[in-house]
Amino acid sequence: MSDPSHTADCLFCGIVRGDVPAEVVLSTDTAVCFRDTMPQAPTHVLVVPRSHHANAVELARHDPSGLAELVEVADKVAESEGLAGDYRLVFNTGAGAGQSVFHTHLHVLGGRPMNWPPG
Ligand code: AMP
Repeated sequence: MSDPSHTADCLFCGIVRGDVPAEVVLSTDTAVCFRDTMPQAPTHVLVVPRSHHANAVELARHDPSGLAELVEVADKVAESEGLAGDYRLVFNTGAGAGQSVFHTHLHVLGGRPMNWPPG
């Protein structure tokens, strides 16, 4: 849901507003990109839409072009990180799949060989 009443306690809304510090690598009209504090690869950046939705599916339902834009922004981040079109994008959706922050975010991972299947 994109409900402002849900955003007061949201960590990533706090980062988007600038109330919570983060190592921002790119900021656009629609997204803020910052380094993950527990990196799982040499490059691990989170691409976070400025609008609050609980996960990627909610973003897709309410703002499909916003979801597409997120992927475009992720590619820009990857390029500026020197990943040259060679990176992994991840949306964890639901606690059982490892989602811990319930504000849509796209993980950009790269800079090492990626295993499959992921853990
Ligand atoms: P997920 O587990 O998919 O919900 O991803 C949330 C990610 O946010 C995790 O990889 C955390 O390491 C990361 N994280 C949590 N708090 C912060 C923070 N304050 N700044 C940057 N990354 C964070």
